[in-house]
Amino acid sequence: MTIESSAAAMVADKPVGGKIAAVKGMNDILPPDSARWEWLEEKVRSLMSRYAYRGIRTPIVEQTSLFVRGTGETTDIVEKEMYSFTDRLNGEQLTLRPENTPGVVRAAIEHNLTYDGGKRLYYMGPMFRHERPQRGRYRQFYQLGAEVLGFAGPEVDVELMVLAYQLLGELGLREVRVELNSLGIPPERQAHRAALVTYFEHHADLLDDDARRRLHSNPLRILDTKNPALQPVVQAAPQLLSFLGSASLARFETVQHLLAACGVPFAVNPRLVRGLDYYSHTVFEFITDQLGAQGTLCGGGRYDGLFEVLGGKPTPAVGWGMGLERVLELVLEQSGAIGPLAPDAYAIVPEAAALPVALKALHALRAAGVSVQMHAATAPGSAAEGMGSMKSQFKKADASGARFALIFGADELAAGEVTVKALRDGGGAQERQSLANPAAWARKLQSSA
Ligand code: ATP
Ligand code: MG
Repeated sequence: MTIESSAAAMVADKPVGGKIAAVKGMNDILPPDSARWEWLEEKVRSLMSRYAYRGIRTPIVEQTSLFVRGTGETTDIVEKEMYSFTDRLNGEQLTLRPENTPGVVRAAIEHNLTYDGGKRLYYMGPMFRHERPQRGRYRQFYQLGAEVLGFAGPEVDVELMVLAYQLLGELGLREVRVELNSLGIPPERQAHRAALVTYFEHHADLLDDDARRRLHSNPLRILDTKNPALQPVVQAAPQLLSFLGSASLARFETVQHLLAACGVPFAVNPRLVRGLDYYSHTVFEFITDQLGAQGTLCGGGRYDGLFEVLGGKPTPAVGWGMGLERVLELVLEQSGAIGPLAPDAYAIVPEAAALPVALKALHALRAAGVSVQMHAATAPGSAAEGMGSMKSQFKKADASGARFALIFGADELAAGEVTVKALRDGGGAQERQSLANPAAWARKLQSSA
């Protein structure tokens, strides 16, 4: 079957004009919810610029091999969660990004981004994972990520954690736990891994199928298991921390000391791990108990080996990823507060003949910083016949939540004026303003003024 005929067959499956639903686990973000997202994005941008982090935007589609190598063959993501496909035209194996650290590192290598020193970067955007959709777990979800490339010291690990902590604070979130661990360096982890395999082999009868399968491919991942039956055997397993040498331990001490100096409360969790060899030293999570099973808001750590895995020069790096649906859900849970959604003013246009003057005046008000919603005809062709009764226009003005109505009536226009009528705070008060220079009285309409 050719591409064209298979596409035609797909269309033929559905009656023409039938409804088409969004893909399962992929959500539309509609008003008024979209305002919450914009509020969040503004908070993020403001804080990132105060930390002097710069945005990076990489493609949503990458070569599949980037994630196989960069996310890791033995991870859940690569084993079963990726949306991968073959490019129909040239046969390339491509994947919708399930996370963005590999993409950022690829771009940094490709453009030699660290040639003149370290870089502090951030991104926000959609990620794709074929998981079972549930509260806090979607197939398209948004991640905010921060990545610091080219700096080896513990101070940037701490800076990143303080950044995440401050962001959650500025969003008004409370009771978020910070858990911290150190993964040391590769030889230390190899020694721990050997001890772990021996330990789990001794207790093989207590493991589930998944854990037995991982015993030799990626035993660290067993520590990550969500199976409650395995908790006792996992709790008693050898801990990575006791395999760290003095240099790694000293570094870990410094991280804790600096975090404490910044007033960030944290707890060391010796079972917090990452299953891949390119991770080293710091690893952390920000967790809430208020979102049920999907309580991890942010996860991150140092990945000093990743540049080499992706064909670059050895480059120290550290970063985190934060799930924005979960963050917004927690905002809703804890405070619900976001900025005002209503426009400052609603323009009432009794006759279509007033439109040229009204549109021009609104243009000037918006240029002066006022948010104005203009009344518009709803029925096709009705602009020529009329804009709807004054009564229905005032109803719409009320429903918009605006504090003022601007009335572009024939009387007003004849005098080169507009009536400004207060709708809230008791309402009723009104005055005429000149249309000669709307910027002169624009400030009076602004709720922030
Ligand atoms: P989890 O254990 O919850 O599956 P993860 O270890 O796969 O998380 P990371 O790859 O570290 O998650 O991603 C960072 C953050 O992105 C998570 O802490 C979470 O807040 C968010 N996240 C991950 N997967 C999803 C998803 N499918 N839907 C919504 N948010 C997600
Ligand atoms: Mg996951």
